[in-house]
Amino acid sequence: MLRQCPSCKSKNLMMVEYEGGPHRYDGVSEVHCEDCKKRYGRWCGLELQEGEVEPRFCIAKATVYARAGHGVR
Ligand SMILES: [Zn+2]
Repeated sequence: MLRQCPSCKSKNLMMVEYEGGPHRYDGVSEVHCEDCKKRYGRWCGLELQEGEVEPRFCIAKATVYARAGHGVR
């Protein structure tokens, strides 16, 4: 889990849980930076773009990588 924003190094972070939907998880899925307003996924650790959600356990993205021939971590 992020302790500071990878972009601006702020520790002013908000943990976000999804209320519903296919990626709902009983815990934090996203970390929002209150200073630069960027969003990061809890598992993938990557910046989330507008409309993008963090797949639970980063599984969806891992599958995409495997299909693209990059292997699974
Ligand atoms: Zn930030």
